[in-house]
Formats: sequence, structure tokens, C-alpha cells
Amino acid sequence: MGFADSRFLTRRRKLSAELAGQRIDSFLLTHPVNVRYFSGFSGSNGALLVNKDLSAKIATDGRYTMQIAAEVPDIEAEIVSTPAETLIAGVADGWRVGFDAAHMTVDGLNRLQKVCPEGVTLVPVTGIVEDIRLIKDGFEIRRLTEAADIAVGALTALIDAGELRAGRTEREIAADLEYRMRLGGAERPSFDTIVASGPNSALPHYSAGDRVLEDGDLVTIDFGAHYRGFNSDMTRTFCIGHATDFSREIYGVVLDAQMAGVKAATPGRGLADVDKHCRDIIADAGYSEHFVHSTGHGIGLDVHEAPYARAKGVGTLEENMTLTVEPGIYVPDKGGVRIEDTVVITSGAPRIITEFPKELTVI
Ligand code: ZN
Ligand code: ZN
Repeated sequence: MGFADSRFLTRRRKLSAELAGQRIDSFLLTHPVNVRYFSGFSGSNGALLVNKDLSAKIATDGRYTMQIAAEVPDIEAEIVSTPAETLIAGVADGWRVGFDAAHMTVDGLNRLQKVCPEGVTLVPVTGIVEDIRLIKDGFEIRRLTEAADIAVGALTALIDAGELRAGRTEREIAADLEYRMRLGGAERPSFDTIVASGPNSALPHYSAGDRVLEDGDLVTIDFGAHYRGFNSDMTRTFCIGHATDFSREIYGVVLDAQMAGVKAATPGRGLADVDKHCRDIIADAGYSEHFVHSTGHGIGLDVHEAPYARAKGVGTLEENMTLTVEPGIYVPDKGGVRIEDTVVITSGAPRIITEFPKELTVI
């Protein structure tokens, strides 16, 4: 049996406090990641209703009877075949019920409207849940650090074993790295592992294919471990065999940009300003058109979540937010470099949780 964990109640309290401001009586959560965030329930199908007075109802299907009792001891669960519809059917007359617009399908909304009592209004809401999830508590930061440690450990083991080398395919290296993350405790990779070698390293969204690594290649490895619901995300670029002048030049620029971005990631700093710190260094070196994406994103239960550091980003960083800093230079047909760390914003210097050497490394 589990025991009631006050952090879920604390999160629900924040949510119910937000409802009053939006004239909403109750909030219906159906997205599994958000149900988990506010209740602790980790099943793939469930719904949670949080009312303005902080009372709550939760429902799931019969596969999870035991699991929900153990994970959510403080809310009595209804076991039904249609969790969201069941909860909405029981809402008091005259109430306005918010739902997460970013995670509701047209089909899902139609099914809710069919059973919704007359006099109950369904209200699409954006931003409330995202805003609450922005600031991480100590438990979340600990889990995120553990996920990052698993990823760092796997990359270290891969290199120590001499398995990041010419003669292997990108696919073999990706599989090897994912295997090592599993052995280290990961439930799965946080996203499809990127191993982009030679000319492929100039493609920021490349995955991992059959190309065989060659002497003189740049190889970019972007990967993360999913651990107990949380994710990690980091990128390192290596030189295989030897570093060309081109590799050295763009590596140096990206490293300077990345370190400037990390240094700028402090409370009160505008998100656009963090992006600018990276982008200006790359532009000054003459590569502005080769930095084709934004600087970074938050990470938590989702790999990509608020805040977003980009040229037109709004808002500022606050203590206990997470942010990746991941500038890159991509020169078609020649190659590319990306360096990415995940940092936790603190009152002092940002804390890098993906700690792994960043200087140019020839393997
Ligand atoms: Zn990444
Ligand atoms: Zn990232």
C-alpha cells in the first residue's frame, strides 16, 4: 500500500487556486502526464477532476484497480470503462468545468458533451497546468537529476568500452547507448536517440541510420533517459579519428555560444535574452544562417515543455525552472555541431545536471 504524498495535494491546491481567477468550478484532467502530476497515478488511462474547494475525484479502468489504490491512496477511485465521461456526468448543475484544450481531441470533447449534464459548461483552458508545471519542486529536481545521471553514465560507459568508433553504424551506436541506459535503470529512451555522423550531422532532426562512422567525421549524439516518468536531454558532438580545421572552427564557436547561454540562465533573465546570448556569438562568427532552431526548452514529465528560450520568447526565468541550452551550427554537406546541457535555474549560478566534458574530444 502507498501513503498519501503531500506534494500531489500541494499541486492540486495550486490548481484550485488558479480556477477561481478564471471563474471555473472544477478542472477535468485527462492527459496521462497531467493526471500523474496532480495525483501520482501513472496508468495510461484515467481522469482526474479537481474542484475549486480542493475536493477531487479520480477514475480509471479495470486494468488499474490495484495500481490506483496504491498510487493514489488519498482519493477514492471509480473503476469504470469511460473515466472522463463518468466524472463529467457527476458534476453539479450550473458548474463551469475547465479542460486542458491542448490535450483534448475533437472526438474526446464530443463524447464528453454527450454525457455532460444540462447546465454544466465545458470550458477550454490553456496555460494553467503548463504554468504550474514550470516551477519544479525538490522531488522533481531529484528525479530529473537521476534521469540525467543515467544518460551520462551510459555515454561514459559507451566511450570507455571503445564502442564509439569508426567502423560502427549510427544505428549500432544508438542501440548500444539505449541498451546501456536500460541497464542503468531507464524505462526507455526519452525520445528517439540521434546519432548523426559526417554529413548527417548537418541535419538537426536526423535520427540514426546505416551510415558507417569514418575517420574525420563529426558525430552528434542527442539522447535522454526516461526514468520514473521524468526525462533527460543532452547532446555532445565528437570528432572521430581526427579533427579537421572546419570541425575545430565550428566546434569552438558552438562551445562559446553554449557556455554563454548557460551563464545567462539566471532568475529574472528574459527567455529571448538567453537565446540572444547564444545567437550573437554564432552570428559574430559568421554562421547566423546555420543556427536554424531555438536555444532551448524546459524539461520534466515531458521532454519539451515550457519555458522556451527562443528569439521571440516571452517571459523570464525563475528559480527552479529547468532549461536546456543547445545551440548548434549546421553546414549542409559538410557537417554540424550541437552541444546541449540541461540546467536548473538557481538563485546563484545555473546548475548543470547533464555533467559531461564539453571540450573538443577526438575519439
Ligand atoms: Zn536533445
Ligand atoms: Zn533538447
